[in-house]
Amino acid sequence: MSLFDLEQAAKIAGLYGAEVLYDEPMKAHTTFRIGGTCEMMIKINCEALLRELIVCCRSNGIPYYIVGRGSNILVSDKGLKGIVLLIGADFAAAHISGEVIECQAGASLGAVCSLALENSLSGLEFAYGIPGTVGGAVYMNAGAYGGEMSDVIISCRCIDKNGEIKTFTRDKMELGYRTSVFLRGGYCITSVSMKLEKGNPSAIKERMDTLMSRRKAKQPLEYPSAGSTFKRPSGDYAARLIEESRLKGVSVGDAQVSEKHSGFIINKGDASFDDVCRLIEQVKEKVYSDSGIMLECEVLIME
Ligand SMILES: Cc1cc2nc3c(=O)[nH]c(=O)nc-3n(C[C@H](O)[C@H](O)[C@H](O)COP(=O)(O)OP(=O)(O)OC[C@H]3O[C@@H](n4cnc5c(N)ncnc54)[C@H](O)[C@@H]3O)c2cc1C
Repeated sequence: MSLFDLEQAAKIAGLYGAEVLYDEPMKAHTTFRIGGTCEMMIKINCEALLRELIVCCRSNGIPYYIVGRGSNILVSDKGLKGIVLLIGADFAAAHISGEVIECQAGASLGAVCSLALENSLSGLEFAYGIPGTVGGAVYMNAGAYGGEMSDVIISCRCIDKNGEIKTFTRDKMELGYRTSVFLRGGYCITSVSMKLEKGNPSAIKERMDTLMSRRKAKQPLEYPSAGSTFKRPSGDYAARLIEESRLKGVSVGDAQVSEKHSGFIINKGDASFDDVCRLIEQVKEKVYSDSGIMLECEVLIME
């Protein structure tokens, strides 16, 4: 990959009026507050731009990374070679038609939940407090408190690796526990339609407030993290196993198994990528040797 290739991508972004950043620190774009610089970051502002950039990257062998709110990723301190396609605030329109919310992938879950509430629509309460974009949430099939994205999605538009635009209906999305066809097939989600139902606004608000209070009480929201570090193993809880292995509060550098919620690894200040990776390995090894259960990471590594 040469500078010329990157400049070609920057030129395309310029044609669409999209913002281009060079040597941008990824720690400013992840909730873990960890990660070196990326060579180039382009703030996506429309589907056509995203499609052209994916085609440009693939035909020139430029590595690219799709990043939403960066709330489920751990980025290497060495940074990222190539281009980060940031799908966030510049690609975040959302509108309601009857009981259907249609939004661009960069819309934040928080904003979409508030829009649902304003329009007395129920079904997304579970997602209030998950700090991601709608695209990232569908990709991960994010869920909480008994609900998940698969309960509300009707369809998605996405771009495949060859730059083709596809529409998936829910039955084709292979949505499972923190997985989807988009994750397995490397599709980039551009817009999402969700079907909610008419509800009582005070009841919707009350449920959202209750769930937010539970989060604040149980989760170490005062520290940077990427949420639950590990997936829930079948029939058990990662946090329970970690506590049973006496790993609560254990640290490597500034990375620590949260004392408030053992399922979270937090950044106590200046944790490095290596600190977190070493702590993850330590937790996995000890839990495995104590319980025979091998924990699997929910947080996705980007390097
Ligand atoms: C405090 C805290 C609490 C959390 N609570 C929960 C919870 O209750 N439940 C839960 O499920 N998760 C939770 N998370 C994790 C995270 O918020 C979700 O997984 C969220 O859906 C990720 O969205 P994002 O936009 O931040 O994705 P990112 O972290 O930016 O990306 C995650 C993955 O999705 C891909 N991706 C992002 N956008 C797109 C797109 N448009 N198209 C294709 N791929 C894309 C990225 O390439 C990456 O592989 C929590 C995280 C934090 C920090």
